Amino acid sequence: MNNHFVYKCSICGQEYTADEITYTCPQDDGNLDVLMDYERIRQVYTPSSICSDEASLWRYLALLPVEDPAGVLTPLRNAGWTPVYAPKVLADEIGLKKLWIKDESRNPTASFKDRASAVVIARARELNAEVVVTASTGNAGAALAGMAAAVAQKAVIFAPRSAPPAKIAQLLVFGAQVLLVDGTYDEAFDLSIRAAEEFGWYCRNTGYNPFTAEGKKTAAFEIWEWINKNAVDISENMGALSIFVSVGDGNIISGIHKGFRDLLELGWMDSVPRLFGVQSIGSAAVANAFNANTEVITPVVSTTLADSISVDLPRDGVRAVRAAAQTGGKYITVSDEEILQAIKHLGRVGIFAEPAGAASYAGLVRAIAEEIIQPHDPVLVLNTGSGLKDVKAAMRAVPETPVIEPTLTDLKRNLGSE
Ligand SMILES: [Zn+2]
Repeated sequence: MNNHFVYKCSICGQEYTADEITYTCPQDDGNLDVLMDYERIRQVYTPSSICSDEASLWRYLALLPVEDPAGVLTPLRNAGWTPVYAPKVLADEIGLKKLWIKDESRNPTASFKDRASAVVIARARELNAEVVVTASTGNAGAALAGMAAAVAQKAVIFAPRSAPPAKIAQLLVFGAQVLLVDGTYDEAFDLSIRAAEEFGWYCRNTGYNPFTAEGKKTAAFEIWEWINKNAVDISENMGALSIFVSVGDGNIISGIHKGFRDLLELGWMDSVPRLFGVQSIGSAAVANAFNANTEVITPVVSTTLADSISVDLPRDGVRAVRAAAQTGGKYITVSDEEILQAIKHLGRVGIFAEPAGAASYAGLVRAIAEEIIQPHDPVLVLNTGSGLKDVKAAMRAVPETPVIEPTLTDLKRNLGSE
């Protein structure tokens, strides 16, 4: 077995073998961390040999808890390995010397969630699962549906009926069985778990299935590899880097933290970048816990236009609090108005972010205003999803378009040149 692993509960610390358990700790419902055989990996690989030539997240297959039996991963090979930009216009505008944006909207279904779904589908194939199910605000479902379609795996998606139409269209085009729940994401989440138990389906739910964080950790590997190649001064002190991540259920920030913890465990990095979680003021359960210095997550009644991070009860909240607490980061909350402004600013350098994707940049702007981030701090911001996913929100961020008569006279009047 190449990729041997065990599970460890993030609450009570109990360890379980891979065939003992599938989702969360039976004692306390804690999320399970996947622990790899770090000693063996260290003996076989070096920081450079661990990265294969694959231009996708599968370049780190040796650090993932899945195999590639009979090449089933081949159709999944397009997730990850997203570009990093250095938008000077934005850096100058907000007064930073070093600003990078990693654009996850370049994933195959246009969001960060492809990383999780690719690895969960690989795991589903190992388990010979007939059906994979997930609850989703839209992106995780689209990612699961897309990855499932790529390997002819049957997928069932529960989404709130209020999900943006583009996200629902993606689910349907990829051929998933879609059920729109007349309720919140949290209600869809609970229903999908009950359905999985009832029908014996394999459940991908975020903050429930331990393999989602394993897929998401590959973004940390990519940042590590990218910094090592492109910013040598920072690679010697990775703790100097600040990373801004939007947070809903908490699984992206905890997945990225896990990736860095793997590298730390392997001795391939000395310190972990500071992780800053950004939440909407209207959906801030993790930020509330962080600011109260507790790991007890109290649900909120979520109200934000950023649907992908609109969550009443974050299912990976404890690890999300730790991701910031254990790295010297913080939680920042932003208003919907600040998120819309961020969409506009990112757009000016050619990055089209959905509200949840732009929230991270809005958080950075606020962190600078509050002097949490200083001008000399190197910062990387993650855009987690494409603006094409929620065009209605994007239109709220931009000025109204003039409609003109098809005449030169009317054109001049509109351009103000008459
Ligand atoms: Zn436990």
